[in-house]
Parts: sequence; structure tokens; C-alpha cells
Amino acid sequence: MAYEVTATRKRPATFSELQGQEFVVSTINNALNNERIAHAYLFSGPRGVGKTSAARILAKSLNCEEGQSDTPCGVCSNCQSIARGNSLDVIEIDGASNTSVNDIRTIKEEVLFAPNSSKYKVYIIDEVHMLSNSAFNALLKTIEEPPPYVVFVFATTEIQKVPATIRSRCQQFNFRLISVEKLKEILIGTAEETGITAEDEALFWIAKEATGSLRDAYTLFDQVVSFSGNEITMEKIRSKLGITGVDRVDAIAEEMARENTRRVLELTDEVLMGGVSIDQLVMDFTAYFRSILFIKNNILKESLVGSNPSRFSKTVVEQFSGAQVEYAIELLFKLYKDLKFSLNQRFELELAFSRLSSLCSYISPNEILRKIEEIRNEIKSGHLSVSEEKADSLPHTETEEAISPEIRDRIIQSLRKNKLALSSALEKAVSWSLKGSILQLTFDSTYSGNAVKSDLKSVREKTSEVLDESIDIEISIINPDRDGNSDLDENIELVKRVFRGEIVNGD
Ligand SMILES: [Zn+2]
Repeated sequence: MAYEVTATRKRPATFSELQGQEFVVSTINNALNNERIAHAYLFSGPRGVGKTSAARILAKSLNCEEGQSDTPCGVCSNCQSIARGNSLDVIEIDGASNTSVNDIRTIKEEVLFAPNSSKYKVYIIDEVHMLSNSAFNALLKTIEEPPPYVVFVFATTEIQKVPATIRSRCQQFNFRLISVEKLKEILIGTAEETGITAEDEALFWIAKEATGSLRDAYTLFDQVVSFSGNEITMEKIRSKLGITGVDRVDAIAEEMARENTRRVLELTDEVLMGGVSIDQLVMDFTAYFRSILFIKNNILKESLVGSNPSRFSKTVVEQFSGAQVEYAIELLFKLYKDLKFSLNQRFELELAFSRLSSLCSYISPNEILRKIEEIRNEIKSGHLSVSEEKADSLPHTETEEAISPEIRDRIIQSLRKNKLALSSALEKAVSWSLKGSILQLTFDSTYSGNAVKSDLKSVREKTSEVLDESIDIEISIINPDRDGNSDLDENIELVKRVFRGEIVNGD
């Protein structure tokens, strides 16, 4: 599949012009300069990264009238006919439409004739994985014992579909996707060569859209040139191709971070009125929040973030937590799916954007669980008082100390003589702690707590006496009466003690 010679850019004529495949190029150059020519090459890799171009350059390098080298002259009749695609000795075959064993038989017969006017007869078979099994088998023999003047160059996007028997008989070259940075660099060169001024952001956008394919990058570049003239700007691309652009997405996201729903909806309307489709806008926002997630995790590589990290609003990066950004992406993914079945796509979008405007107050289930766990631990340690400022008061309890069991028993015992009910209620306290001159008693039963509260004076006096200092009492009640029976049980217990009796079954 040959790619078109574009208005702004010719095909690479030599290996040094084949960009983004440095490893492949240096290996082939070495082979050419050392006259170590294989009879079968296999170029594999994604579409649009230079496999067919490399095959044609190889053909020229082998057949140039100036002699075999990695820099074919480009002006001799052999170089020119190969460039035009009408050399009798360079045969290009599309594997996708010549898959039968008969096609291969024709090749087998043809290879027996020496080249017309060149040193080598070069067969370039593109998409070679499309050949049938019998065609591969027919080909195998020829590759194994080719006439000395024949060179095969196979190209494929799906190396795994090429039989191992063929692969093992070829010198293999793996072509790679070209990085966004490299594509941008190539485009900068192209713009300079053709006298076109271009904004850095615009070229980065083209490079990014090309997703690793130089061919796609050139095609898109030409398309942009066709409506931009000699000056490529992001603004022109935006208005012509309906792209939202980081700036506008950023402005809307910033209003989301400020929880300004009204501005979010107004700006969204402006973008949509500018011709951006709803699908596009949702995709742009998904990509945007993905970028924010990367930046929040300190991944700042431009090709990963999708734009220069400094282009993103600080407010957005700082205002949203990682969990909130993840939630935003999740919500947008769901929105994209829902749009397919939506009665009104625009309403659906506005609803989602309105929700994103309160993203700052979103709490993830994990955070809720963590809070519950904290509270549970506070309850367990007996630190949770009924007071609402509990959380704030907790850090100030550093002077708190537990009362030793002996002293506790002495207080309870000394009350038992005259205040049996009070002493029994006091025994039910789940924690005793002394904070300065205040004794904090915690109960998990309202009944016992109230019983102690009703005669605080006695407890205060007895405690002050035992501890030999003036003590105040504070009562807290936690988790009161969960099963509802504890009060009843306690009453019975109390009655039992007061009357020094035994419980007998009433029946
Ligand atoms: Zn030449």
C-alpha cells in the first residue's frame, strides 16, 4: 500500500531521511556498506511508520547506477524509475490482493529471468501475512534458493500471522511507532522546509493525533495546511475541526473546581455553539481529567500528559483530590456510554457537568470507610463523649491518666456501706480516667450513668477523700442500651442486691 506523495512533503529518498526508525536504518546501512545483502527481508510494524518507504529506498540503494550504497543518488534512471514506481526490476505486489498460489507461481517463474537493466530484481510484497498457506509454501522454496540477483522485501503489520518457516529465512526488522516528541520534531522540520509558520501547540496536536504514524502525521499536516495557509495556529484548527482545546476545557474545569455551576453551564453552551460535538467534548474532558490524574501523581512527560503540564490550571490540580479526579473520569466514561441511548444528549451532558461542579465535596467510599474506622477506634478506647466537639477535644487529653483498679475498688467499696445502689451503678462504669482534677466516668448504660449522676455529691466526696484532693466528676454515656434489656437486667440485679435475695421464677 503506497502512501501518497503529499503537496508539502516528498517521500524519504534515502535511509538518512527515513525518520523515527534509527535502529533499523543503522543496521541496513551497515549491511549495504559492507555488501552483506540478504536475499529476503521482513519489515514488520504498525501501519504508516515507513516500511514500504524503507523497501523502496533499499531497492534504490541496491540498483543505483552510482553503485550500491546507503545514499542512492536519486537522479540516475534506475533511481528515478523506482521513485516513479515503473522500474521493470522492482516489482511491488500487494499481498492482500495477490494471495493465491497461482500468483506466487507466476513470481516463481519470473524470478528465473535476470534483471533488465539493474543489478538486482527486487520483489516488494506488502501485507505479506495475507498470503494463503499454499502460497507461503510455494514461496518458501524460492526464498531458500533464490537466484543471486533476487531480493525479496516482505512488509507486514501482523508479524505473528507470517509462518515461522518464512520468518526464519528472512532478515527481520521491527519498525516502531514513532513517539509524539519525534513526530513533532519531524513536523517542525517539515514546516521550516516548506516555509510555513506553525504554533508549537498546533504541531504537538497534529503529532498526538497521528498516534505514532508518520504517514498520518503528514496527512493531517497537509489537511491543516489546506485550510490554514502559511500560518498554522491552534485557533484555526479548533474552529475548523471542532476541537475543544486545552484552554477552554481548562476554563470550564476551573469553574467546576470553584463549584460555580452557572459558569460551567454557560461556558459549556459557548463551546457547543462553537461547533464542538457532545461526544467530542466528553472525550476531551475525559482526556483532560486523565491528564490531571497524571499531574497529581507527578507524571509530567508531555507525551503522557497530552499537553505541556504547565498549561493546566493550578486551581484544578490543587482543588481536586486524586479520588475526586478518578470519580470524574468514571462519571465521564459512564456518560459517554449513556449518550448512545439518551433521549437528549445535551441534557445528559449538562446533568453530568452540573454534578462535576460539586466534585469538590465528593467523598469516596474508601474515605468514608476510613472515617468510620477512626470513629470506631475512638469508641473502643472510650474517648467518644457525647459532646459534639469530640474530635477537637481529643488532642487535649494528653494529661489524662487511668485510675488504678485498687483505688477504684476502694471508692466503690467505701460507698457500698451506705450507698449500695450508687456503688453498684458506679461499678458499671466502663472507664475511669483522671484529667487534672476531673474524674471522667464513662458508662455504656443510661441507667447506671443516670444513677451515678443523681448522687454525684457522694461520689465526689468519696473520691476526693480516697485520692486526697478535691475532685470533680464528669459523666459520659456511650452506646446506651443497645439491646434494650440491659436496664431491665440491671434493675433486677439491683433489686437482688438491695434485698439480698435470689431471683425465683415467677411461674
Ligand atoms: Zn541512482
